[in-house]
Amino acid sequence: MNSGFIDKLSILYVEDEDAIRERLSRFLQRRTQTLYQAANGREGLEMFHEYKPDIVITDIRMPVMDGLSMAEQIREADHDIPIIITTGHNDEEFFLRSIDIGIDKYVKKPINFKEFIQILLRTAKTVIQQKEIEAKNEFIKTVLDINPQLILITDGERISYLNQSFLDFIGCTSIEEFSDRFGSIDYFLVEEEGSFYKNKNFAEWVNYAIKDQSGQLSVVMTKDFQNRSREDIDKSTFMLTVNQVPSQEEWLLSFSDVTRIEEEKQLYRVLSLQDHLTGIYNRKKFYDELSKEIDRVNRYQQKLSVIMFDVDHFKSVNDTYGHQVGDKVLQDISQIVRRAIRKTDVFARYGGEEFTLLMPGTHEQGAVDIAERLRREIEEYRFAHGGGVTCSFGVAEIDHNDDSDTFVKKADVALYNAKENGRNRVEVFRTGGFSCIK
Ligand code: GH3
Ligand code: MG
Ligand code: MG
Repeated sequence: MNSGFIDKLSILYVEDEDAIRERLSRFLQRRTQTLYQAANGREGLEMFHEYKPDIVITDIRMPVMDGLSMAEQIREADHDIPIIITTGHNDEEFFLRSIDIGIDKYVKKPINFKEFIQILLRTAKTVIQQKEIEAKNEFIKTVLDINPQLILITDGERISYLNQSFLDFIGCTSIEEFSDRFGSIDYFLVEEEGSFYKNKNFAEWVNYAIKDQSGQLSVVMTKDFQNRSREDIDKSTFMLTVNQVPSQEEWLLSFSDVTRIEEEKQLYRVLSLQDHLTGIYNRKKFYDELSKEIDRVNRYQQKLSVIMFDVDHFKSVNDTYGHQVGDKVLQDISQIVRRAIRKTDVFARYGGEEFTLLMPGTHEQGAVDIAERLRREIEEYRFAHGGGVTCSFGVAEIDHNDDSDTFVKKADVALYNAKENGRNRVEVFRTGGFSCIK
């Protein structure tokens, strides 16, 4: 058998009889890189602590400190280091004691070199394999620790590992500190409407996540765990992915921070529904809301009315005072209307200098009253440029035959009529004819 395993290792050899020690040392020195020699247990122990060898070979009967006492102390410091005993006697007491210490390798004296090298090679192989596993674990740990994602490993109930990013996030320096202070990451979860972990404990939500097929699980967490039920705390949103640790009943949960993406998405969502000049809803949002309201009308037989209004001779405002003043007029009109309406009303810039106001639960007369009030408020408002501005209004109440288009069209027709009939007035669309309010 080749001695390839041994030459990478360091060996501590303890033997009090010079002749024996020198003989075996010569044999070992030819095969290993580093050999430490000691003449008794005390010396051996000191060398063990100083050099941390990979394997210990020791005689039993020695002056100052015997081999088993030394082995016992070495075992306390290192549970795994292989200890090979060379022994000239085989009494029962010795065996029982050595088993207690956890020694399972013996070489009889006088030493048969052939037998000895076999034992040594087997031992070395185990040590090398153990070293390789440790190196691999260390490598994996480094990879996980430098990962910006928060990573934890669990058997579904207990957390056995948190990477450095996770420890940093929760303000712990080690998994032991985490276990002592928290034991569970539930302290850091922020429950929101629709959170998949809502009202579940760690084991319950982890098992839910393990079975999840959607790949769309998000988790909101806060470092500020003492205030986690408050609305205004700093929190982060994470996408959660779950992977089983190969050939083990353990799962690796990684949380990647998507807070910025979520915030941007939210912003785009708002922006895509908002008119940039006035800050009120745009036409798209108006139609989104309108279709929801029409569903409600059909389901609950609720009333629904809409007002469409348009600034009178707005072109001449632009022509006289400039486009910027025109913009300011549109902003002011939006403000006047905003202040006058209910929370459930949907107020939108339909386009240009034309606006729509959707009023759930309001019948025709109610809408007419509001339109009339708005008409007067705008008429009486002192705009920054000093000039007056008026608007024309068309009102329509929904009919069971209407869809979005026919409903809006009715208000548009009524508005057209208001323009035709002299502007600065409110007209109602009525089947079979129009009614003028002012
Ligand atoms: P009418 O009483 O018939 O509605 O007359 P009008 O001048 O208001 O109508 P017209 O459709 O001829 O002109 C609308 C004007 O509104 C022309 C357009 O440049 C202006 N306008 C549309 N959008 C904006 C805007 O965002 N800002 C400004 N300043 N002007 C706008
Ligand atoms: Mg106009
Ligand atoms: Mg117009």
